[in-house]
Amino acid sequence: MIIILKPEATKQDADEILAQIESVGLKPLYMPGTERTVLGAIGDERKLGSLHLESHPCVDRITPILTPYKLVSRESHPADTLVDIGGAMVGGKRFTIIAGPCAVESPEQMLLTAQAVRDTGAHCLRGGAYKPRSSPYSFQGLGKQGLEILHDVSEKVGLPAVTEVIETEDVSLVEKYAAAFQVGARNMQNFRLLKALGKSRKPVILKRGMSATVEDLLLAAEYIVSEGNPKVILCERGIRTFETATRNTLDLNAIPYIKQHSHLPVIVDPSHGTGVREYVTPMAKAAAACGADGLIVEVHNDPKSALSDGHQSLDPDQFMRFMDEIRPFVQAAGKEL
Ligand code: PEP
Ligand code: MN
Repeated sequence: MIIILKPEATKQDADEILAQIESVGLKPLYMPGTERTVLGAIGDERKLGSLHLESHPCVDRITPILTPYKLVSRESHPADTLVDIGGAMVGGKRFTIIAGPCAVESPEQMLLTAQAVRDTGAHCLRGGAYKPRSSPYSFQGLGKQGLEILHDVSEKVGLPAVTEVIETEDVSLVEKYAAAFQVGARNMQNFRLLKALGKSRKPVILKRGMSATVEDLLLAAEYIVSEGNPKVILCERGIRTFETATRNTLDLNAIPYIKQHSHLPVIVDPSHGTGVREYVTPMAKAAAACGADGLIVEVHNDPKSALSDGHQSLDPDQFMRFMDEIRPFVQAAGKEL
């Protein structure tokens, strides 16, 4: 339920009502706005009845949150949420670029790629140490050694690092080495992992599952936020459809839909979304134009020697052109690169 307070209600009034909400076993939410304060009560809404808040002198009105996801819904939190990845902001007026290789392969590969993406204006560095591959025979990532390389290079070049976590048991280890977690498409509904990440204080980039609906994605985000971590960034990375011309079908409809229904920032992954290097820039432009808050893009110092996803990775020169080409689209959408 959403409880809208009267304009004259004070912080003390809000605190008293929040305590009442908590006393009946509901999760209280405090959402101060510019004109008035909105409170939330999450859980079994029948419990709210006993408080008779509708007749409280400070309460203007009470309305139910109709969406199945509550905390991540725009109804519960009308203003955009901004998420800070180690000093790089995602959301609001920003258009954030997270760039780097699919996988951490060696200190040299990571450093060369990281220097190139930093010099071209990327805000965060990506690189997978744990790779969830479709085939058990494909490169699985360097594991802890990969985390160490990523951390080292991230410090050297001064870019916060983003990396995937695939196991609940690895959350505390990955947390030590990275500025933000990535949850991959294959793990979007790994609810134990989502709950563990909800206990962390570091941001989570939650990628949409390849056969997940947007509502599934928002409910997965709700798992993380309801455990206490509000720093979630959603990521559209393409879904499986009957179309086989490209690796995935990049569902850009999801961007305006998510913007309308949720306050969380949303970024796009045009690398996995298309699977084809030549289509990365056109779809990145489209993502900027339709209101995304940023991009996560695969860049490799030498894509032809990449151990994973080389065919969809940009080389440093291509990444430079990519940044130049997307800039007008970012500006036209009212954001800053
Ligand atoms: C990746 O980012 O390299 C990756 C494996 O992505 P996804 O989970 O979207 O397939
Ligand atoms: Mn990849």
